[in-house]
Amino acid sequence: MAGRDSGDSGEPERESHELYSKLCQILVGTRTEDKVFTDLREMRENEKSWKTSHSKQIDYVFKLLQQYNLFPDFAKHTEEKNDRKSEKFRQKGNFFFNSESYVEAIAEYNRSICYAVTKENISIALGNRSAAFYRMKIVLRASDWHENFGYPDRLKDKLDEREAACKIALKNAPKQEVFVPKIGMPANEMIPFLANCLKLRENEYFGRHVVTEEDIPAGTIIALEEPFCKMLLYSEEYLRCTVCLADLPHLLLPCDTCTQAMFCSEECKEKASVGFHAIECPITSAMTKIFDDNVRLSLRMVLCAFLAFPDAETMASALETINREKKNAFSFDWRQELSPEELSRQFTHWS
Ligand SMILES: [Zn+2]
Ligand SMILES: [Zn+2]
Repeated sequence: MAGRDSGDSGEPERESHELYSKLCQILVGTRTEDKVFTDLREMRENEKSWKTSHSKQIDYVFKLLQQYNLFPDFAKHTEEKNDRKSEKFRQKGNFFFNSESYVEAIAEYNRSICYAVTKENISIALGNRSAAFYRMKIVLRASDWHENFGYPDRLKDKLDEREAACKIALKNAPKQEVFVPKIGMPANEMIPFLANCLKLRENEYFGRHVVTEEDIPAGTIIALEEPFCKMLLYSEEYLRCTVCLADLPHLLLPCDTCTQAMFCSEECKEKASVGFHAIECPITSAMTKIFDDNVRLSLRMVLCAFLAFPDAETMASALETINREKKNAFSFDWRQELSPEELSRQFTHWS
């Protein structure tokens, strides 16, 4: 369901693209593009030979943006909860509902729930979302909503009725097989989620890379790994949990503060409040408008790495140790419980 905000063209145009074009125009106009290009190339080469750190390049670009006053305006793009907008999204949801596009309708009702300030507005959007789920024959947990949002008693019977009807429909529906992936070859003893035939190699041409010592039949699963960090794509917002990415039919709960994040359970909400979302929450709506998914994922990855350590100094010294000892993901015994620091060290060497 691409293009909820931008017609048929997919995701909306991000402000960072515009700023990049402006910067290029300024550099060409001031005839400084060659100098900037040469400076950045030199820094990159020095970084490759460990003469300088990446932070030099970052500082350089930071100063350029400062010099030409090109920093994005975060305040302008920050969205606050707002009942008027909540109503607008609910109406958009009603439009989709009337067109029998129930997934789109649920996304808009969820957005309406996220923006709502008053309980009345939350309740109406919840009721409408329940109607869309009902049309999709998805079972409801009406009682949860009463506790969480103070759903009005006058509407309770309607929700209970829908819940009962959905349960009957589900009971009669054919059972769906759930695919559980498994490694299709003997697994590495110390790395149980990796086929044993895979080995880590390093050479000048490919850098660090993985090879196989046996032929692998097409379609065989050779590695199963939990991602170190994950992020919801823009196109899936208001349809999946921000933390675990659980899909419909979860009844998503809104973040109490921002207008972007939704959670499939109190557990995910709690995780978010002490994890990456604690930092992202005030800037999440602006980040979505300014940067594309790749940039947002980079930020998330940096935050997850920082949060895995008690402080930046511990993180830096852990990374220095890895470099010094030349450790890599194949050096660890993955059957053991690992501390966040150890997990992060290993992650660094997968990448
Ligand atoms: Zn979740
Ligand atoms: Zn939030």
